Amino acid sequence: MIVCKFGGSATAKQQGVRNIKLMAQNDKRKVLVFSAVGRKNPKDIKLTDFLINYTKENNLIKKDKILQKIEQKLQNLVKLLKLSIDISEFITQIKFSNDNKFIVSRGEYITSFLMSKYLNLTFIPPEEIIFFKNGKLNMNKTKKNLLHKIEEHGRFVTGGFYGYDENERKIVLFERGGGDTTGAIIAKLLNAKVYENYTDICGVKPINPKYFLSTQTISKLSYSDMKKLASYDGSVVHKSVCELLNKTSVITKIINIFDYNKGVTTLDSNSHACKFVCFKEADNKIDVLLHGEKEMKLSIKKSP
Ligand code: ASP
Repeated sequence: MIVCKFGGSATAKQQGVRNIKLMAQNDKRKVLVFSAVGRKNPKDIKLTDFLINYTKENNLIKKDKILQKIEQKLQNLVKLLKLSIDISEFITQIKFSNDNKFIVSRGEYITSFLMSKYLNLTFIPPEEIIFFKNGKLNMNKTKKNLLHKIEEHGRFVTGGFYGYDENERKIVLFERGGGDTTGAIIAKLLNAKVYENYTDICGVKPINPKYFLSTQTISKLSYSDMKKLASYDGSVVHKSVCELLNKTSVITKIINIFDYNKGVTTLDSNSHACKFVCFKEADNKIDVLLHGEKEMKLSIKKSP
């Protein structure tokens, strides 16, 4: 069994949604998890950021303007998917809710709902799968539900990034980038063979291409090394993936949805000799980790 998670940039572009459709044709891909629609261009704003800004805005006129942008972003997705679906009901729900977490979670809910229509697959909202109990993830109940849904529907589409706390009757959000977390929870509980994490980069590089151009991709990395890297630079995969899947038999593949045959990194629980450098930037310093046979940590002060 394969569990897949598609990041937000995949649903922002024509080529991304086309490739998702191609991936969905393989029915070994049982659960397809979606993040909220992301950026088409680097200057774009992610749907989740619009939703967060909406919850923070007190000025009613400005709030309304943000809601229009949210609606526009979703209309773009409807158009990209060539669907004839009226999304006004969803916008009304956002407008009349005073639960900020519910509002932010609508990014994942609506995106995955629309993707399920596009792919012609069953939609199961995260509220019906990922359960929390008093703020903590309820693995037993989540597992029971997942198995039940797989048995009932065979395959399905869902959203990432959040779940539902039955005791508190509230939506619970994961950290930013938490679509990865949802995918890893599902892959772990269903004991998937592979967790495919579709992003918009060609795997993990020995050095972040933001700093130095690197064409090489690390083909194999252990979860524990990836966790170290992710704690410095969380831009590839959320570190929760490594915490959840380390010491399990699930392997994770980090794949570029726009170029899926090129530069795949496989994560597993074995250790591999691997060299990489990573950076964490703070206001006045840069922390550096040099990882190899020996490990070295540096903290460099930025010049004023
Ligand atoms: N939509 C959420 C975010 O922007 C979660 C995710 O994309 O994984 O952080």
